[in-house]
Amino acid sequence: MKKILIVGAGFSGAVIARSLAEVGHKVIVIDSRDHVAGNCHTYRDKKTGIMVHKYGPHIFHTDNETVWEYINRFGEMMPYVNRVKAIAGDRVYSLPINLHTINQFFSKTLNPNDAKAFIASQADKSIDEPKSFEEQALRFVGKPLYEAFFKHYTIKQWGTEPSNLPASILKRLPVRFNYNDNYFNHKHQGMPKNGYTNIVNNILSHENIELKLETVYVEKMKSGFDHIVWSGPLDAYFNHQLGRLGYRTLDFKPFYGTGDVQGNAVINYCDKHVPYTRITEHKHFSPWEEHDESICYREYSRACDKEDIPYYPIRLMNDKERLQQYVDMAEKINGVTFVGRLGTYRYLDMDVTIKEALETSQALLRSFESDTKPNTFYQKVV
Ligand SMILES: Cc1cc2nc3c(=O)[nH]c(=O)nc-3n(C[C@H](O)[C@H](O)[C@H](O)COP(=O)(O)OP(=O)(O)OC[C@H]3O[C@@H](n4cnc5c(N)ncnc54)[C@H](O)[C@@H]3O)c2cc1C
Repeated sequence: MKKILIVGAGFSGAVIARSLAEVGHKVIVIDSRDHVAGNCHTYRDKKTGIMVHKYGPHIFHTDNETVWEYINRFGEMMPYVNRVKAIAGDRVYSLPINLHTINQFFSKTLNPNDAKAFIASQADKSIDEPKSFEEQALRFVGKPLYEAFFKHYTIKQWGTEPSNLPASILKRLPVRFNYNDNYFNHKHQGMPKNGYTNIVNNILSHENIELKLETVYVEKMKSGFDHIVWSGPLDAYFNHQLGRLGYRTLDFKPFYGTGDVQGNAVINYCDKHVPYTRITEHKHFSPWEEHDESICYREYSRACDKEDIPYYPIRLMNDKERLQQYVDMAEKINGVTFVGRLGTYRYLDMDVTIKEALETSQALLRSFESDTKPNTFYQKVV
């Protein structure tokens, strides 16, 4: 049996730890934070008793039956449908842009077919091959919807003009021609009754797993382990020798209120003059609970500095070049597998994180069994 060090107690680290532990390997999981679950961490606010998503709103959604079974094995999932509202130009709209949004925005009563024709008439047909996010949006939805819902929100979120962002961000027409305002299209959607941290604690609760919180990885920890699974930032493993991979970070500014403060879990603010991107009212993530008070987070996005928490990988051209260099460096070393959103510098939803972690575990187990060298990456990273 092997002795494995796993850096990071988010979903990536926890799922891999559990899979290895269940077949008898000894696993030590460390995390620099004082809690498990990484960025999915939830806690009960002391003042109100409300379950708060500390690092931003997390809604579980998936089409993958294996992943859905897995999450349900470690915690009770409650039915939850994410419906998002947006404030633009001092009016409230329904997101994602759907027939209701179109009719409200243009003061019309269009049916689906007429709305399709109407949106097609708005689209900028002079753009043959969209090169940027801006051109893609203009070609799909036209100027009025682009300016109201995409332009300023994107500038706030990414700190750059949409003309500097790749067209690939908007892969499909971001509009629905019916009244479906369910934010996600997946078959399964839900919210853990006792929070994500409870689920990750349950995943990690195994006799072959030792958990050490408030423990930052240092190189001398390497010795004594047969293999390391690294779910921290890829560039941090190499002490940022080649410079930092670009991230956006988020600041959450909490405020309290009584009763129902905004009537919905998440409201996006699309206008330029509002400095935050959205407000989350956490009690709405647990509609089966009753609370008189309320806690909300205003969310601000900005460039990620050295001491900040990395949230969204920027992945512009210069980041991708640097990423390739780090990947090349990583491929040259032995004994480490890089996983998860930070280890592979990609945005990953929770269900994809769990799916990849399960696949990586199986691959690691196969290489341990056959005594072959585990891969440095099991996913295509660049
Ligand atoms: C704002 C926001 C909202 C999101 N909303 C959703 C959503 O609604 N639905 C959804 O499915 N997904 C959502 N996600 C994605 C979700 O957060 C990720 O899928 C998930 O966190 C990935 O887990 P992970 O284990 O790979 O990374 P993380 O959760 O980041 O875990 C990595 C862990 O490694 C630890 N670590 C790093 N370096 C070291 C070190 N040197 N030593 C020790 N420990 C270290 C960190 O402290 C951290 O706990 C959202 C992400 C963001 C940013």
